[in-house]
Amino acid sequence: MPKKFTVEVNSQWCKGCGLCLAVCPKKVFDFDENLKSTPKRMEDCIGCKQCDNICPDLAITVEGSA
Ligand code: SF4
Ligand code: SF4
Repeated sequence: MPKKFTVEVNSQWCKGCGLCLAVCPKKVFDFDENLKSTPKRMEDCIGCKQCDNICPDLAITVEGSA
């Protein structure tokens, strides 16, 4: 059974630095029209939490079990 993860970005806290787009090995994130990161391809997430760890504004939460 494929592992499922939930990725949430708090757009109030995201400042659009792009670190999560750069670090994600599965290219889950894109910028929306307001230059806020948004998890466009959440189904590709492998739950590595690199985005969660790198975000300077603690805007990303990854949940789910490996
Ligand atoms: S790392 Fe955090 S602040 Fe930077 S674009 Fe991603 S969600 Fe936004
Ligand atoms: S947990 Fe890993 S694969 Fe999932 S969105 Fe974050 S960096 Fe990408």
